Amino acid sequence: MNLEEYCGIWVYLEVHEGRIAPVSLELLGAGRQMADKRGVPLAGLLIGEGVRDLAQTAFPYGADQVYLYDDPIFCDYRTESYMRAVIECVNKNKPEIILYGATSTGKDLASAVATDLETGLTADTTMLDVNAETGLLEASRPAFGGNIMATILCKKHRPQMATVRPKVMKALEPDTARTGEIIEETITLLEEDIRTKVLKIVRETKEKVRLDEADVIVAGGKGLGSKEGFALIHRFAEKIGATVGASRDAVEAGWIDHDHQVGQTGVTVTPKIYFAIGISGAIQHLVGMRNSGLIIAINKDPNALIFQSCHYGIVGDAFEIVPLLMEAFQKKPD
Ligand code: FAD
Repeated sequence: MNLEEYCGIWVYLEVHEGRIAPVSLELLGAGRQMADKRGVPLAGLLIGEGVRDLAQTAFPYGADQVYLYDDPIFCDYRTESYMRAVIECVNKNKPEIILYGATSTGKDLASAVATDLETGLTADTTMLDVNAETGLLEASRPAFGGNIMATILCKKHRPQMATVRPKVMKALEPDTARTGEIIEETITLLEEDIRTKVLKIVRETKEKVRLDEADVIVAGGKGLGSKEGFALIHRFAEKIGATVGASRDAVEAGWIDHDHQVGQTGVTVTPKIYFAIGISGAIQHLVGMRNSGLIIAINKDPNALIFQSCHYGIVGDAFEIVPLLMEAFQKKPD
């Protein structure tokens, strides 16, 4: 493989309910920085039906170009059709790096493309950088149960690929004066060649927990002791109008649904205020909440790791401290 032939950074622009997913805009921000460091163009890759107008959205967020596949065959996401488009586009235009959101679609697509192209993929990256001279992507993520941060390189294959969780990177402030070039691509793909058919899309009726959009989160961990103990978190959250979060151990104990889990295998959150109550502060939890504006930890162990990552720490029993806080919030100012 001649690595020199590969040039430019791409972001897969995922479409959700008629708009570009926020994670893709965040990745354009990260991609822009790397493209400037390398002195190469930043392109979006947009696939769908009737998505032409969305291509324009990418330019204010940093893209120089958008490769566009707009065809009825891409009406619904299907691994086979979308991966064929990505692979054809890669083989034709040869980007050095492709970034995808670590969403269910992004993870599915990136792994299928990586397998077919026989290249490397770093999943759930939490930090990205590029070596300006060599062009090597430095994709970092927690490894070995979170005990170390590993920086993963893909030295011998191109394109280098990574998936990145929503809310980890920052989108640029949109600059509406920025414009770019739309490069129309076409593909010869017949419906009968695709094995998967979308028969029906059934939307989940359960009310979705929007942890990633919450301004205030009260999160509880195994330190709450039981499902009854965890009810204290619900009461506190209700009192202050917060959303309930949880550590994986609280979820695995069956005290609360997985939708509420914060961390590496849960949701990444950036609220203005994050209460971590009875949570030890394992790295897999921290990666999901450490960018919160203000972190307040309550833990009875003064040596708990969470105290190294919070702005305010209260050493004490949650069952004593939280009722005091609730009382304080109850009081009207004089
Ligand atoms: P513990 O570690 O048991 O901590 C409980 C804490 O409560 C202790 O610090 C204790 O001092 C304190 N405590 C006890 N009683 C009280 C009391 N009465 N008042 C106040 N404090 C008290 N974890 C996640 O959270 N999210 C993830 O997404 C995630 N993904 C993972 C992915 C992988 C691949 C792996 C290997 C692990 C993952 N984990 C994740 C698990 C993680 O490593 C920890 O095991 C988990 O976060 C610990 O949960 P915890 O802090 O609630 O429990």
